[in-house]
Amino acid sequence: MYDDNNIFAKILRDEIPNKTVLEDSSVLAFDDINPQAPVHSLVIPKNKYVSLNDFAEKATDTEIANLVRATVKVAYEKGVKDNGYRLIVNIGPNSHQEVPHLHFHILGGRKLGPMLAKKHRELE
Ligand code: AMP
Repeated sequence: MYDDNNIFAKILRDEIPNKTVLEDSSVLAFDDINPQAPVHSLVIPKNKYVSLNDFAEKATDTEIANLVRATVKVAYEKGVKDNGYRLIVNIGPNSHQEVPHLHFHILGGRKLGPMLAKKHRELE
């Protein structure tokens, strides 16, 4: 199920570098390599979870609480907590999840516009 060769697994093993924003015993947060907004960071659990579905099923309550609290800490560290920011969690093929290790995207630093681009809404 879990692919040990996914890019975030390699980051967690220090095989490839990352711009760390925050790290604790169960969470790592780092800047996205291809930012879609002035602030674009990713928050991931250190343990092996493919998606939010997997995380909800298998993670401990402590891991779940740590991930949520770390996410808000990252928003604070990046200076977007008070002006507003967006969390995106892609889960599975319809969402276009590319990396099969759970990650929260934190986006902010400018007005982000509607939740989905108009051209995508028109596809429905
Ligand atoms: P998703 O489509 O939700 O799976 O998002 C995957 C995200 O991972 C994209 O925003 C990529 O830009 C980002 N990403 C891929 N490789 C790296 C990397 N080495 N370091 C930081 N972010 C990455």
